[in-house]
Order: sequence, then structure tokens, then C-alpha cells
Amino acid sequence: MGKALIIGAGGVAGVAVHKCCQNSEVFEEIMIASRTKSRCDALKAKLDGGKTKIYTAQVNADNVDELAALIEKFKPDVVLNLALPYQDLTVMDACLATKTNYVDTANYEPPDTAKFEYKWQWAYRERFKKAGITALLGSGFDPGVTGVFSAYAQKRHFDEINYIDILDCNAGDHGYPFATNFNPEINIREVSAKGSYWEDGRWIETEPMEIKRVYNFPEIGEKDMYLLHHEELESLALNINGIKRIRFFMTFGQSYLTHLKCLENVGMTSIEPIEYQGMRIVPLQFLKAVLPDPASLGPRTKGKTNIGCIFRGKKDGADKLYYLYNVCDHEECYREVGSQAISYTTGVPAMIGAMLVMNGVWQKPGVYNIEEFDPDPFMDALNRWGLPWRESFNPELVD
Ligand code: NDP
Repeated sequence: MGKALIIGAGGVAGVAVHKCCQNSEVFEEIMIASRTKSRCDALKAKLDGGKTKIYTAQVNADNVDELAALIEKFKPDVVLNLALPYQDLTVMDACLATKTNYVDTANYEPPDTAKFEYKWQWAYRERFKKAGITALLGSGFDPGVTGVFSAYAQKRHFDEINYIDILDCNAGDHGYPFATNFNPEINIREVSAKGSYWEDGRWIETEPMEIKRVYNFPEIGEKDMYLLHHEELESLALNINGIKRIRFFMTFGQSYLTHLKCLENVGMTSIEPIEYQGMRIVPLQFLKAVLPDPASLGPRTKGKTNIGCIFRGKKDGADKLYYLYNVCDHEECYREVGSQAISYTTGVPAMIGAMLVMNGVWQKPGVYNIEEFDPDPFMDALNRWGLPWRESFNPELVD
């Protein structure tokens, strides 16, 4: 049916490429392009020989002209941006210049301020509309599936949703005292930032890790979880009817938190550049270089993830509760695609989002968050492509 250009060749891209190859009826040709071409070639070598034709290229996605030239040459139906959030705007610029559809999994973040917000990408709405192309923002798991779950709950189960708690539990054990499940720089920026949640029309800010709850996760059991700011809160608060409060919690083990605190205390998580032996280095980027590569955690991670949303609202005048979640097993993911579940739970929805834009099911010119599309085809595709969802109508609540 069509062609996709995938930018990036890291943990998430690895899974997305596997899934595109499994879905060769839709993804007839893909090009994997990243700064380090050898990583793209290694992925191609693993998957070559199937029905999907794979090409690779070297590209610096910070450079709009370079990207636009590559897009012109390959002529993809969609660009799936699986590089880092810093590249979102340059990739969107290149898509505009070449009138090509755009999909990503994380919102733009300026390299020098740890602040992720949609305002920079929402500013492209008119230009994408005029160009007749679609930008689908946040097609990973969270953001991504959490938005699709919210749209589905709204469409099928509620007249209004007043409370959403998004719960992200990773009970995987990789055996290292400290490692991050996806890009360490992005992950540590996210968890060391202040927390916040949306209540009664405004943001309430918390200190990092200030709010802790214990939750008994289906198929996993009790885990400590902490309130974080997370990007989908911003769009869901606007796009779901009747929201009074929306919060995001993520589980962390004690070892992770102790190491993080210590690294923070000695200044290793700072993004302010320092002089070191005549060079300017960013401590957090140096830390990334000494931590295990998330892509290497696959063979050693055991256990499950459970990510989902608890909704509270009204249907036909009565109070209603609804919990939608997915449970994913690290070892099963590794057996299937050679990656742990965090990359898997992001890479599968990335493929699905790209597919729905490519086959026209989710095309509307402009820039949209995932919950602004009809959730049904995405919900079906989750069951088909490896992330089956479960539901419960009497979940334990978070106080
Ligand atoms: P990795 O660090 O493993 O991979 C990032 C890839 O991007 C690498 O191949 C890197 O290649 C490439 N890259 C970085 N800069 C550039 C550039 N300027 N030009 C071209 N390529 C570049 O990250 P992950 O795979 O773990 O994460 C990918 C994305 O997914 C991130 O944006 C992350 O925030 C997002 N994510 C979203 C989640 C969700 O649920 N929504 C969950 C987890 C991740 P090289 O190093 O050679 O430059």
C-alpha cells in the first residue's frame, strides 16, 4: 500500500521496524534513517528477506534541508519520527516543505530547557492544514494509547468523564542497580522535573516525587507510584468532555529513586553545560554515555508492565467507573522482536498510528493529538498487533 520513512534507529524504532515488516501489506517499503547509519543497517540486516523492502540512509534530523532532500528522494507517504523530542520541529518543517504526513511519539522539548509542552507543535496547525497534510502527535503508549483509551471511554462509556488517573507501572527487573528503560537523557529529564496535575481548570505543581500512592496493579500486585507531569495531561484536559482532574502516576523502585537522588545531589542530572578539561559538556549527556543502553536491557529484563487509565464520570445521569489497561510481558516482547516491553509498548502504537495515517483512515489536514481521532480502528489494531487491552468496571481507585 505505501512507504514510510522512519527517523531514528534506537529502541523504539527497532520495534516499529519489526512491526512494519510484520504488516507488509501496508508497509511495502520502509526507509530507516538516522545519524548513525550502521544502526539502521544492523536493523535492516535482522529483517531483510521479508516482503517489506528496507532501505537505510544517514540523516541529521536537526537539519531541515538534509531531511527534505531525503524525503524528496524516497517520497514516503508518512514520516514516522522516532528520533528524540528535540527533532520534532525540524522534522515537521521538512514534512511541510515536502507536503508529507507526520507522526511522532513525544512532544517537542527544547534542548536547553527541560520543558515539554505542545505549544510549539500546535503552532503548526494552520500550515499543515493549508498544505493538506496530517500531523498525528504522540502515537506511543503514554502519550498515545492512553489518549486512544480516553477517546474510546468517551465514545463508548461516558457522557462526561470527570476524573482520569493514568497509571504507568513497570514491574520489570533488568538486574542493574540503575538503568533507564528508554533514552536516559529524556527519561531523567522527565522524572527529575517538578510534578503537576490538572484540577478545576488549572495546573497544580508539586515537588518532584512529592505525591506517592500504592496501587494494586492487575497481574502485577502492589507497587509504589509517584505523581509526575506527563505530556498527554495537557491535551486530554482540553479534548475530553467534563474533565475536573487528570493525573499521571508512574511506578519507581527504591533502588532507582536512591540512585537518582544521589546523581541529582552530585549534579550529574543537570542540563547546564560545564567546562571540563577545555570541553563544554552537559552532565546529563555524560551520564547517558555511562549508563546501559536501553536497547541492551531486552535480554535481561523479566516481569510485566501494566499501563492504563481509570475513568470516573457519568453515563445517563449515573456515576460510572471504568479502567482500561494493557499488560505486557518483557520476556515475551524480547522473544518476538528482541526488545524489552517499554520499547515494545511504544513501537507498536507508532506503527499503528503510521498505518492509520498512511491508509487514509486517520487523515485530516492539520495537527492533531491522538485522542482527536476515532479510537475504534486503533483499539482493534492494538488487539491485532500485540497490545491487547483489558477492561474492568469496578477498579480500585487512587485517592
Ligand atoms: P533512543 O535513544 O534509543 O533512540 C533515538 C534514536 O534517534 C537513535 O537512533 C539516535 O541515533 C536517533 N537520533 C538522535 N538524534 C538524531 C538526529 N539529530 N538525527 C537523526 N537521528 C537522531 O531512544 P528511544 O528509541 O528510547 O526513544 C525514541 C523516542 O520515543 C523518544 O522521542 C522518546 O521520548 C519516545 N518515547 C515515547 C514513549 C511513549 O510512550 N510515547 C515511551 C518511550 C519513548 P544516533 O544516536 O545515532 O544519533
